[in-house]
Amino acid sequence: MTTRSTALLRVVHRHSGVTRADAARLLGIGTGAATELVTKLSRAALLAQAPAAPSGTRGRPTTVLLPHPDGPLVLACAITHEAWRLDVVALGGATAASLSARHGGARWADVRTAVAAAIEDLLSRYGDRLRAIGISVPGPVSRTLRLEAFTSDWHGIDLNELWPGAGLLVAGNDATLAATAEHLRGSAAGAAVALHLRIEAGLGGAVIDDGRPVLGAHGAAGEFGHMPFGDPAVRCGCGAHGCWGTAVDGTALARLLGAPEPRDPVTYARRVIATAARELGSQRARQDVAGLPPLSSGTPSGGAAAYPCGSGEAEPEIDPAASVEAVRVVGGALGRGLAGLVNALDPNLVTLGGIGVDLLAAVPNTITAAYRDGLMLIHRESPPPVLPAALPDDEGPIAGAAEEAWSALLPRLT
Ligand SMILES: [Zn+2]
Repeated sequence: MTTRSTALLRVVHRHSGVTRADAARLLGIGTGAATELVTKLSRAALLAQAPAAPSGTRGRPTTVLLPHPDGPLVLACAITHEAWRLDVVALGGATAASLSARHGGARWADVRTAVAAAIEDLLSRYGDRLRAIGISVPGPVSRTLRLEAFTSDWHGIDLNELWPGAGLLVAGNDATLAATAEHLRGSAAGAAVALHLRIEAGLGGAVIDDGRPVLGAHGAAGEFGHMPFGDPAVRCGCGAHGCWGTAVDGTALARLLGAPEPRDPVTYARRVIATAARELGSQRARQDVAGLPPLSSGTPSGGAAAYPCGSGEAEPEIDPAASVEAVRVVGGALGRGLAGLVNALDPNLVTLGGIGVDLLAAVPNTITAAYRDGLMLIHRESPPPVLPAALPDDEGPIAGAAEEAWSALLPRLT
């Protein structure tokens, strides 16, 4: 078929339930040509038509364009340092089925076996309709689909092993895929140049330039957490010293609070940030009641918080005043780094995912002050906004994986 057929499928994918008339307008073709294309794609089991819901206005009834009930599907797979999930995704982005399980930081061989079995299960249900897979993983992926995941101790992993018979397999770093999804369906929609940062166990992200992530020569771009914006005395899991990621994540908060390195830095960070947010809220309430000047929140008290070492232990209290100070220090490190990236990359806006969302909600003024302080004069007049990601943490990467699979598959369908 034609590139025009691909363009029509892309329109239906992007605007699920679009009317045939609107699709024709978006493609810049006449209604006759659109009807002909739709007929052709319906015969090929790629599109279906249904009557549009009555709009209440006069005029000829129109039809909406939908994915064909027997049409192609893609698999979207998200593997994190503690769980995996597989979605079957139709044209338009609807999820037809989903399988998931926790692996709790297992060896790669065990994760691969579990995911491969789940793919076999979905193949037995959907058969040849499954045409491609997009995979999100917690580390850089080379152009030959090899994964390095420092935090999970998975090295030199060949992602083709997950589905050796796949017709089309694409894969990417979770933060890069979250950036792609955020640009398509989230806070960065429509931005010409968007910077997305995701703080979890480490910090990653991507620059989306003209709709596509900047991947680098080896597919490893976007490792912003490993720029030396942090404390040179701190060694990072990547092998370098002074990485920015070690100054803005759960390990940074634990160091500031004199606590041992947390086993799960994301959960730990969320607890500390929530404690700080509660304390800041009650400080504000006390000031409102008494009309008092701001309370001094003191300095971080060593050993005030300790992370449980064994499972099943009660989680010790985190000192509220110390948590406020620690979260402010981390917020400052985040704001300064953001300024550096904006000076270097000149994006229209910045979106923050992962615990970046929590930090932005807890200490917005600290982050903004450090951000503005670090900006070059040319950016000060109208600093690129720093916004929380609109897609939840567990949806961004898998949505991005589905998008990558669909954008690779669409040109092959027609
Ligand atoms: Zn590093």
